[in-house]
Amino acid sequence: MSISLQTCPCQMNPSSDDISAPLLYQDCCQPYHDSLLSEETDKADGIKTETAERLMRTRYSAFVLVKPNYIVKTTLPAQQNLLDIQAIESWAKETNWAGLEIVAHTPKLGKRHAQVEFKAYFNVSDNENDGLQAHHELSAFVKVTDKTNNNAQWYFLDPTVEMTITQKQPCICGSGEKFKRCCGMYI
Ligand SMILES: [Zn+2]
Ligand SMILES: [Zn+2]
Repeated sequence: MSISLQTCPCQMNPSSDDISAPLLYQDCCQPYHDSLLSEETDKADGIKTETAERLMRTRYSAFVLVKPNYIVKTTLPAQQNLLDIQAIESWAKETNWAGLEIVAHTPKLGKRHAQVEFKAYFNVSDNENDGLQAHHELSAFVKVTDKTNNNAQWYFLDPTVEMTITQKQPCICGSGEKFKRCCGMYI
């Protein structure tokens, strides 16, 4: 069966049975993936994730479906060339993904940030710690407004990327505020 017609990876939640009508990939994360990964720039400007939670879901699905370019392109632009796309790809492939649970979504935090607490489940099959496990994380996101056309877009703030920035420098998100008063509060 075509991947488009299968349940979207982000709709699987092993800790709950009560998703009554899980969305198909084509009705959930696929339009976002296709739009951002399209070679045609007019298409790439198309659909944007409306909320941090939506972005989080599409990123989880991109890990499951091994679309490392989507992971890179949805990370804050100032961090993108510091990411190891090969490592992202191997990690995505090697992980036996088992579902996503959104624990909490704080859609508005200050002027331009949001947080999503989630559990990304995966199966481990080695002798010592067999079974279902979860990455339980609180991720921060920032909404960046393009000053030339006023388009706003959510990005993931990667806390693992080593940035050479001082607290008093202008923020990496381009907001014009000091780093410590902006994204520095969340990463
Ligand atoms: Zn989805
Ligand atoms: Zn910032």
